[in-house]
Parts: sequence; structure tokens; C-alpha cells
Amino acid sequence: MGEFELIRRFFTRPVRRAALGVGDDCALLAPAPGMQLAVSSDMLVEGRHFFADVDPKRLGHKALAVNLSDLAACGARPLAFTLALSLPRADAAWAGAFAQGLLALADAHQCELVGGDTTQGPLNICITVFGEVPAGQALLRSGARAGDDIYVSGSLGDARLALEALQGKLQLPPATLAAARLRLEMPQPRVALGQALRGIASSALDLSDGLLGDLGHILAQSGVGACIDTRLSSPLLAAGGDFDSELVRQCTLAGGDDYELCFTAAPERRGQVAAAAHASGTPVTHIGSVQAQAGLRLLGSEGQELVQRYASFDHFST
Ligand code: ADP
Ligand code: MG
Repeated sequence: MGEFELIRRFFTRPVRRAALGVGDDCALLAPAPGMQLAVSSDMLVEGRHFFADVDPKRLGHKALAVNLSDLAACGARPLAFTLALSLPRADAAWAGAFAQGLLALADAHQCELVGGDTTQGPLNICITVFGEVPAGQALLRSGARAGDDIYVSGSLGDARLALEALQGKLQLPPATLAAARLRLEMPQPRVALGQALRGIASSALDLSDGLLGDLGHILAQSGVGACIDTRLSSPLLAAGGDFDSELVRQCTLAGGDDYELCFTAAPERRGQVAAAAHASGTPVTHIGSVQAQAGLRLLGSEGQELVQRYASFDHFST
């Protein structure tokens, strides 16, 4: 199977929302009047972001999910995406499974594959996603104000727990490992919540490198500080009662690969935040507050201040 046969069989689909899809030199997108395009790219590299033997269907899902998560963080509605793929060989079984996972998530969000590039080389997947958001209403990292509440969606730490187990650093019961692994390999982007938070959240971002590091981006770009309650634990981490509390904190505060949203909103908007969470079917937890004083302060189980020593993920510092 050659390059064009591979594209034709697995990556060519009719489009409805885009004006032109796969097959010409450019795709054509037609955002609705009054909308801005929200654009983001994320690359997944074998050995860096996923293990070589990961299920290709799950990999297809995750490659798009991490991109949709960026749209969610901005409150944008998904529209279309391009797929740049470097593959060691044209393996039909692999490409078919990858496309299945990818396109199932794309269909669930009505996000159309409109183009890309295919080349031979080490396994590497780069997706660029396009969404639309009413002009001026995108959620940004720069809008947090002293006094705002800080929230996270869903739960944190499960992906990191799975990674630790897959790397042989800890043992998990089979059912716990399977559940944690699902969170690592098939994150569910919080697209509905992001859109529901437009006009309510003062700032937002998605959590890919760990809560504390990512929240640090909101604080830096908004010129504020924060205080966070660290008594957070995902149901999985809480259920595995004998997890060391330090491990739970490490996974939760600096785990990475969560793809949950972290956002801020003024206290008078608590009712609206709850309504947005309910309407989008996404639990949210109030975890702290924005303060004028710079820096991030962590409160432990007795309300005492903890020493901050949870580094977030950085590709060039490890
Ligand atoms: P060009 O030579 O102009 O770069 P290509 O020959 O690489 O175009 O690709 C032909 C068509 O197939 C283009 O419309 C391109 O967007 C699309 N395409 C290539 N690879 C992919 C892919 N992995 N997924 C979706 N569309 C693809
Ligand atoms: Mg090309």
C-alpha cells in the first residue's frame, strides 16, 4: 500500500462543515459570521508521549483528544482538524485501528478531518485543530483576578498513577490498573464544559503537565498568586486506600496528562459555575482562591501551609 492509497482508505471522508476537505492542496474552512477561529497544534512522539506497543485505536483517540482539550480550554466549539503523520511503514491493520479511534472521537465532537500530510519515518503524530468561538469571548489564561475562586473539572492524578505502574514503579490491582490506564490512554476532553463556561470563567486552561505547573501559567499571565487546598484525590486514588499520601499528592498536583480544565471565576458566579457543570455533565471542584500576593501556597489536611516541591513536567528539564 502506497502513501495515496493509505490516505484514500483511512483518512479521506466527506465533509459537511468545512467547505473543502482532503484531496486538494488546501482545505477550506468557513467559520460562521461573527466567530473567531481558535487554532492549536499538539504533537505525540513515540517513546516520549506514548509507548511503542500502545493500542493504535487508543492512540488515535488520544492524539485528537489532547487537541480538543485545548479548544475546550478556550471555550471553542470544534470545527475541523488536520493530521500530519510520520509512519515507519504503511501497516493497514495499524492505520485502520488508529483511524477508527481517531474518527470515532472526531464524530462525537463533529470535528472534521480536512487534510494533513503523510510521510515515512519514526512514528510521530501532529494534529492541528480548528474551532470557533464568538469574537472576543475566548477563555484566556490572563483574566484571573484576586478574590476569584479556582476550580478543576473531573479528577486528577489517574493518568500519572497508570504511568508509574506501566513503568514498573508500583504495583496496582488489575482492575485499578485498567481503570487508570483508560484515563491515561483515552482522556475525555471537556469540550462541553469549556463552552458552557464562556462569559462565566475569568480564565481557563487545560491540564497537560500537572495542576501546579499549569495553574502557574494562569497566575503568571494574570499577574496574581493563589492558595490551593491539596486534600484532593481522585476516586481511584482514594479507593486504593493504601496509597502513600505523598504519592497521591504527587499524582494529583503534578501528575500530568490529566486533560481536565482548571479555571477561575468570581465568587458571585458560583451558581453559574454549578449550572455550567450540570448542563455539561462534568463535575467541578472548588480547590482554592486567587490572591493578590504572587506565588502559589498549598494547604495540607490540617490547613497548614506545605512546602511547594512539586515540579511539573518540562520536556527539556528531564
Ligand atoms: P501536497 O503534495 O500538496 O502536500 P499531499 O500529496 O501530501 O499534498 O496530500 C494529498 C491530500 O491528502 C491533501 O489534501 C492532504 O491534505 C491530504 N492528506 C495527506 N495526508 C493526510 C492525512 N494523514 N490525513 C488526512 N489528509 C491527508
Ligand atoms: Mg504533502
